This record gives sequence, C-alpha cells and structure tokens, in this order.
Amino acid sequence: MTVGLDHDTLEMVLDSINMFAEGRLPEKVLLELDHEDTFPEDIVRGMCGDELGVSLLFIKEEHGGMGGGSFDGYRVCEKLAHIDVGIATGVLATFLGSDPIVFGGTEEQKLRWLGAIAEQGLIMAYGATEPEAGSDLASMKTTADRIEEDGEIVGYRINGNKQWISNGGYADLYTILALTPDGPTWFVVDRGTPGFDHGAPEDKHGIRLSNTAALSLMDVEVTPDRVVGLVEGQGLAQAQAVFGYTRLMVAAFGLGAGWSAMDRAIPYSAARIQAGGPLSEKQGFTHKLIVPHVCRLEAGRAYIEETAARLDEGEEKLNTEGAIAKYVSTEAGNAAAEASIQALGGYGYTKEYMVEKIKRDVKITTIYEGTSEIMEMTISRDRWQQHLKTRGAYYADLATELDALHRTDPTCGADIAALAHRALAAVMETARANRLTRNQHLLFRLGELIANVECSAALARRAAGATAGTLSPKANLRLEPPALAAASRVFAREAARRVAQDGVAQALGVADPGTLDPAALRQAVDVDRILAAQVGLADDMDTVSTALYAAVAD
Ligand SMILES: Cc1cc2nc3c(=O)[nH]c(=O)nc-3n(C[C@H](O)[C@H](O)[C@H](O)COP(=O)(O)OP(=O)(O)OC[C@H]3O[C@@H](n4cnc5c(N)ncnc54)[C@H](O)[C@@H]3O)c2cc1C
Repeated sequence: MTVGLDHDTLEMVLDSINMFAEGRLPEKVLLELDHEDTFPEDIVRGMCGDELGVSLLFIKEEHGGMGGGSFDGYRVCEKLAHIDVGIATGVLATFLGSDPIVFGGTEEQKLRWLGAIAEQGLIMAYGATEPEAGSDLASMKTTADRIEEDGEIVGYRINGNKQWISNGGYADLYTILALTPDGPTWFVVDRGTPGFDHGAPEDKHGIRLSNTAALSLMDVEVTPDRVVGLVEGQGLAQAQAVFGYTRLMVAAFGLGAGWSAMDRAIPYSAARIQAGGPLSEKQGFTHKLIVPHVCRLEAGRAYIEETAARLDEGEEKLNTEGAIAKYVSTEAGNAAAEASIQALGGYGYTKEYMVEKIKRDVKITTIYEGTSEIMEMTISRDRWQQHLKTRGAYYADLATELDALHRTDPTCGADIAALAHRALAAVMETARANRLTRNQHLLFRLGELIANVECSAALARRAAGATAGTLSPKANLRLEPPALAAASRVFAREAARRVAQDGVAQALGVADPGTLDPAALRQAVDVDRILAAQVGLADDMDTVSTALYAAVAD
C-alpha cells in the first residue's frame, strides 16, 4: 500500500514548485529580496494557499488536505530549500505551527484549524522558544492562568514573551506554549487577539526571506477550547511527539541547501579553466571541495529516506533517528555550502553567485528545531542506553547484519561500515568500563561518531537497494547505482576513520592519566584494519567525481 502521495502525484507537486519558483523566484529576485531583507508575504501565502497549495500536502484528506506522508514531506522540503531556505522556513512554519494540533488536537480541533489551513490557506507560527528558554524549553516562563467562574474553567489568561518565531509578524494563527497549573500546554491564539503583539523583524545573518519576530502576550484571554487536546500539561509531550517528523523536515532543508550549493560549484568548476585545464579535472579541487561533500549529503539522504519510510509505516518514537538525520544532513549542508564558496574562489565570496547567500541561509538548519549540540546529546544518550541494555551488543549486532549485506552486495560499502560499527562498539565499551561518559565532552563527541556510523549503514543499504532496483519509486536518486556505491564506500571509510582516530583520541583525552593503554585501545578498535580499508579511496572518489561531471555535461 502506498502511504501518502503516489509517485506521479509527488512528481507533479515537485514540478509545480519548480515552475512556481522559475516564474516568481528567479535568482535575481532571490538576491534582491535577500539584499533588501524582505519577507515576500504574497509569495509565501501563494505557495501555502491557492496558487500552489503546499500546505495541503501535510494535512490529512479527512481534514481537507492531500494526505502526504513523511517521505513526501522530505522531498518537498528538500525541493523548497534547494530554492531558498528562507522561503522554505516560511512554508514549514505553518506545518510546525499546526503540528501540536495534528499530534495532540481533538478531532473537532483538527477539523476546525487544519480545515481552515486547507480551505483558506492560513499561515501559522509555532511559539515555543523564549528569551531565556531555547534548548532548555522546560525553563520557560510564559504562563496561562485559569479564569474560573463558579468553580468552572471559562478561559485562560496568557502572559509572557516568545523569541525568534518564524512567521511571527505575519501568521494568522499561532500555537503558543504556556505554563498552566498542570504544566506546559499548547494554546491556539488568533492574530489580533487583544494583548497579543509582535516585535520588528529580526535583522538576521541569513534566511532573510523569512520573517522572524518576537511575540509578546499581555493578559491575552482565550477560551478553554483553545487548549490543544483540551487537557492541560501535555505540551512538552506533544512537542516531543513531533520531533521525529519535524527534524526530518529540517534535515531535508540541509540536504536541499547543500545540494543547491553543489549544483552551482559543480558546473562552475567544469567551465573554469586554471593551469591549463578545468578545475573539474583536478583531484586537489574535486576530492576536497566537491566529492566528500556529495558523499556526506547522500549519507544524510539515506538516513532521511529510511526514517521517513519507517514513519510512513506507522513507527513512532523515532526522535533519535530524526536527530541523526538532522545532525548529519544539516552539518553536511553547511559544510557543502562553505566548500562551494571556496570552489568559486573570489566569485564565491561575492553576493552575485548565490553560494554566499546559501551559506548564510543553511547555517540556521544547524540551530533551529534543536541545535547540533542538542542533537549530539539526544543521539548519544539514547544509543548509550542501547549499548548498556544490550551489554555492548547493539553495534556489534548491526555489524553482523552489515557483513551479511556485504555478502549479498560486495560493492555497497557494507564491509567498511561494519568495521566502523565494531570500532564504535569498542570505543563505547571502553567508555563504559572506565566511566568516561561522566565527561560531557566525550558524550557529545560520541553523538557525532554514532550519527556518522549509523549513516554509513543507511548509505550502504541504500546503495545495495539502488543496485538491486528495490528502492522506493519516490526515492531521489541523485547518483546512479555504481556512483552511489562508490559514494557509500567513501563515506564508510570516513566514518570508520573518525572512530579510529577521533574516538580513540577523545577517550584518551578524557581518561584519568595512566588508566587507558593507547596500544590496547587501538587494537580493540582495530585501527589497522580501518587503515587497510582506506585502500581504493582515491579510485572511488574518482568514480563519484566522474559521475557528477558527466551529469552536468549531459
Ligand atoms: C531564524 C530563527 C528562526 C526560529 N524559528 C523558531 C520558531 O518558529 N519557533 C520557535 O519556537 N523557535 C524558533 N527559533 C528558536 C530556535 O529553535 C532556538 O534558537 C534554538 O532552539 C536554540 O535556542 P537558543 O537560541 O536559546 O540557544 P541556547 O539554547 O542558549 O544555546 C546556545 C548554545 O549553547 C549550546 N547548548 C545549549 N544547551 C546546551 C547543553 N545542555 N549542553 C551543551 N551545549 C548546550 C547550543 O547548542 C548553542 O550552541 C528560531 C531561531 C532562529 C534563529
């Protein structure tokens, strides 16, 4: 059974977005809006509402939408961010704003507000962050006091401030997190409610086509039917419930923006002649500034696609997976954009060539919906528990599965990914035996290693699936199977090398002097095999490079 849109409908939606952008958001317009720091309200409203109807995608059919799934959401978010992360943010803010209702609202509330988004193209904002409560939402101060008459709750009075709210100055409808006597609770608040105001647009580093504003709530009165789910105290649980999904969407932003930068650097370097030939023929250029970034982006994509498919199959509680997808894809997107500036040299450093803007824009993806450091913590804490619960078998078992995959498809990089998994298990076991995760530094660095190692497995599975022709028809195959397999081997080598070098060094770095034997640790991690697996790296990078440049020559 197809969950969400069928393949043809999804392609039609993506084509419509492309056509809309070509007509209304050519590069010249994007650069002007960025320069003038302007939120193009009519364009965002047109995209969400009657011109494109992107908001319909995320609303179920019974509430008036198209009933798109997570996989569809990822493809659309990637496409939007490939155009402009600011515009994508303006569109996503409506999904974010409505998510507490989607996940926690009563059926009546869904019909009322999701129906209004579908019918009237309302735009929404999601008000969680406060001046003193960002990563740590539990320290929020906005309150919602009960208004009682004859012992019955007849309303709530909301007081407080929200910070950095996307669409904050323009939304028709806001979801606001506030503390009731029974705990954090989401409220739906209309624009124009007395006492509810917004600040001036923030003057931001990037995503200057999005509106970001502070909100102030002074004695804002709402009726009890505005409590999402009609029960107080569910707010943080509802916010947690959407993370697996929303972080996947931001992951897709990182992917889209990173590829958007690469899609400029690759043709540029095919045409740019230096030292007697095009830059695209110089390994010193391609193997630093292009190929590793494409491999990392594709590793992020592999993880996004697997997680989206699992969500569409009805799995819940994929917050760690959402965090891994977001962490790897947004860091890869940010690094790819940085490399693209370098790839264009002096031209890249000017405003005219877009990569400078993309770099400023994509940075936000490593900050909002949970910073990269919070992702590291989330990933590490969860997988640490798995390591303890399984007495160290968690990654060893996954390595065994990868060995089996390698026997089926010896080209997909699963053997190297298996080495990375075993090395990770060894570093984690060393950390357990020596109580090293008392150091927050190691815990967070493990989060980074874990995310990369898990992505190496996802990319190996995806490469094998591409070769076997078993990927979802909705998958976005940017590289043909042989090049994807080469990219998988490149990425797996990097993931394994990072565990062998950084994992070992970080464990030694936090251990009490004299308690860890470097040679024994290197042996446990099997550094020599990981180094031996680096053989063939340059050939694989050549394969990826050739495929990328052949695609632009077509
Ligand atoms: C352009 C923009 C749009 C946004 N849109 C929205 C929106 O629509 N709705 C909304 O509710 N919010 C929104 N946000 C807020 C965003 O989600 C927060 O900025 C983000 O969660 C980080 O919170 P903070 O800015 O308070 O940083 P802090 O939490 O103060 O973090 C500062 C630094 O410390 C690190 N850090 C924090 N805690 C820890 C810890 N425990 N251990 C180690 N390091 C830590 C962080 O990783 C970061 O590097 C937006 C922000 C921006 C800039």
